[in-house]
Amino acid sequence: MAYVITDPCLVKTICEQCLGTELCPTEAILTDLGFAFIDPELCIDCGACEALCPHGVVHSIEPVYSQGRWKLMVTKKDKPAVELNRAAAEALRAKA
Ligand code: SF4
Ligand code: SF4
Repeated sequence: MAYVITDPCLVKTICEQCLGTELCPTEAILTDLGFAFIDPELCIDCGACEALCPHGVVHSIEPVYSQGRWKLMVTKKDKPAVELNRAAAEALRAKA
């Protein structure tokens, strides 16, 4: 389970509100090559980044219970972004 950034997030032109060490308890939100993404191996599903993101681009890949029903926030069109989060995190880890 994990949260993902569902649009490639151009932090320099959008915002940097979820970045840094203060919000994410496991420092799972990373940046590289000009966009933000979440490392699914570090994310512990606390939801803090989703609540904070002013552009609504952070979602859980698991269904969430809201207004009396379960709803999947990540849709088919977000699939490439889900893969991008995972691949970008792996690439950044390999660089370290
Ligand atoms: S859901 Fe919580 S642990 Fe996961 S990336 Fe967001 S702030 Fe970090
Ligand atoms: S808070 Fe949202 S828009 Fe801002 S950098 Fe994070 S994911 Fe991108």
